Amino acid sequence: MKKIWIIVILFITITLFDNGTVLSKSTKRFEFEKTGDAIWNARTTKKIVALTFDDGPDPLYTTQILKLLKKYNAKATFFVIGEHVGEYPEIVQDEAKQGHEIANHTYSHHFSANLSQEAFVT
Ligand SMILES: [Zn+2]
Repeated sequence: MKKIWIIVILFITITLFDNGTVLSKSTKRFEFEKTGDAIWNARTTKKIVALTFDDGPDPLYTTQILKLLKKYNAKATFFVIGEHVGEYPEIVQDEAKQGHEIANHTYSHHFSANLSQEAFVT
């Protein structure tokens, strides 16, 4: 369970601070923390690495990644784009069958720092 939270934390951190800080500037962070909908960090003494892959599924790269993860019995989180899932649903099914986490990386990967909070969410 901790692994999932670490992955979520990593994704949220990268997303919020690497894409124009759309959400963090709107000061919604504290609201998310209050509700528990998002976590920014966690205390642990373990050395943990979360493997995450964005923008898939991709018929070439995702399948290669899945083979490697299987070979080393490693788990990852795949942040998928809805449009790509529509094109390659079988790859996402393979990700799930192998026990990886599937997470939303928007439908069309259209990010803009100029989007309002409302436009970002919809
Ligand atoms: Zn991306």
